[in-house]
Amino acid sequence: MKSHRNLVPLSEYFSLDEFESPDTGQVMIDGVLFAALDDCRRAIAWRIEVTSGYRTAAHNRAVGGKPHSLHLIGAAADLVISPADRRDAAIAFLRRVPAVLVMDVGDHLHVEVRGLGVPAELVAVPAEA
Ligand SMILES: [Zn+2]
Repeated sequence: MKSHRNLVPLSEYFSLDEFESPDTGQVMIDGVLFAALDDCRRAIAWRIEVTSGYRTAAHNRAVGGKPHSLHLIGAAADLVISPADRRDAAIAFLRRVPAVLVMDVGDHLHVEVRGLGVPAELVAVPAEA
């Protein structure tokens, strides 16, 4: 039987499992980030695929994330939106949200909450050799 882990609706558009770290299923979501994504989804009236939300330190290392990545505290998400006009609409919307920063990274958009830092104990230091 398929696990229903984190199959919990967060809104009309998003489910908790979309934001989980795929290695363990653990999940954290910053409320400001989530509100921005949910408002964006409604504004562009188009599907947003979350390709990375919360990351454990191990998963962050596995995907080559920065050691202080806000994915480590659930305050960043990577999004894929297609076609281009809906993607551009999402960028334009998110740029008008003062609390978040949106970066066009080419194959996805990285959105993070401004002004946050990752506590030292959560920084994903490289594994010991
Ligand atoms: Zn990212």
